Amino acid sequence: MTTTPATPVRTRFAPSPTGFLHLGGARTALYSWAFARHFGGTFVLRIEDTDLERSTPEAVQAIIDGMQWLGLDHDEGPFYQMQRMDRYREVVAQMLKEGTAYLCYSSPEEVEAMRERMRAAGEKPRYDGTWRPEEGKTLPPVPAGRKPVVRFKNPLDGDVTWNDVVKGTITISNRELDDLVIARPDGTPTYNFCVAVDDWDMKITHVLRGDDHVNNTPRQINILRAIGAPLPEYGHLPMILGSDGQKLSKRHGAVSVMEYPAQGFLPEAMLNYLARLGWSHGDDEVFSMAQFCEWFNLEHLTASAAQFNNEKLAWLNNHWIKQADNARLGELVKPRMLEAGAVFDGAPDLAAVLGLMKERTNTTNELADAAMLFFREPQPDAALLAQHLTDAVKPALALFAERIASVEWSKEAIAAMLKEVLAANSLKMPQIAMPLRLIVTGQLQTPAIDAVLQIFGRATVAARVAKYL
Ligand code: GLU
Repeated sequence: MTTTPATPVRTRFAPSPTGFLHLGGARTALYSWAFARHFGGTFVLRIEDTDLERSTPEAVQAIIDGMQWLGLDHDEGPFYQMQRMDRYREVVAQMLKEGTAYLCYSSPEEVEAMRERMRAAGEKPRYDGTWRPEEGKTLPPVPAGRKPVVRFKNPLDGDVTWNDVVKGTITISNRELDDLVIARPDGTPTYNFCVAVDDWDMKITHVLRGDDHVNNTPRQINILRAIGAPLPEYGHLPMILGSDGQKLSKRHGAVSVMEYPAQGFLPEAMLNYLARLGWSHGDDEVFSMAQFCEWFNLEHLTASAAQFNNEKLAWLNNHWIKQADNARLGELVKPRMLEAGAVFDGAPDLAAVLGLMKERTNTTNELADAAMLFFREPQPDAALLAQHLTDAVKPALALFAERIASVEWSKEAIAAMLKEVLAANSLKMPQIAMPLRLIVTGQLQTPAIDAVLQIFGRATVAARVAKYL
């Protein structure tokens, strides 16, 4: 049972805008969003753009586009860390005043030399505390003209322990942790410090993120404690691996979320897939986001790495295409069909065509390609035609042509009429269905002939058949 948190739930998605929105990021966003929705809480979008070398406006846009496509709407933000510099400086100043941080004048060379010494002594390299103020300790004279960094006064002893909602209890000894630089010589704050201040200011109650951040968590917890901030719950989600168990990368297929709409995937399929990739609800595989938000809690997150499976995603996409409104599918397939030369004027109703064709298509791109047979002039292959439209079949085609005008234009009535035509000519269904397919659509592979004819409409079928009498 999930116990309802005592305070209103506030979650955040905090991507660094250095590329595209990848699948792992989208899953983190989805879980944070769903958890907030489950409890009627608040979902915050925060852009961690302090890495000026790597952050780009295009990457910010890619994140926003990806989340919009998925429908992961945020309630607050986007907040940009670069716009919060004054706030970080304010907290640094406060920490210096309170003695939870200190000015460190050790030069980079000196720091490197002390690390070298420790490595040589078989110890974990860390800052040796030269400038760390302690009671009764006299600090060295300030070197002239040198700008200090600000270091966090990490506790020297004891452990940092948190109950990770994915990984269980994690304990890190403070001896493993350095006195972290929280502000550089030019005053700019550093990564872990900004995250801690943000999570505090934004009143984040639950932090879900990739497990590449596990090492940052004890540092952030110590900073949060030092500034008197309440601690959020943490959950570190395991990586998404490719189908071969290796880290997911380009060679496994698309890693950017926005490549999926281009390939013809529906957002509800992607969401459904990502929801199950690291979380479970019994054996349920297919569910809507409304259902997911109702079910989602932090108790059934999977601790082991998940493997991305393209076939399963395709299977889910097929399911959600079948569920989708045909008019909506029409909007999705139209651009690709126009590009392929589709003529919609005087052609069958697109929604009706998609309703017929969507049963067996895994992507809307496949659906667009399959639907094309209704929107171009058929050009039956002469050899195939000769093979299927034999002298034995021709009288049946003639009888069929005669009956077109009077038959009720429904699938059932067309099917019944075809049976009569076949019986009158002692033929079997494929003997008329194949040439009819060729004549009317130009190809041999189509859904059931009665359904195809019905959708084409009486006039088109009559006109196309007439050419071969
Ligand atoms: N900006 C970090 C990232 O993109 C996430 C930080 C966090 O969630 O705490 O990996």
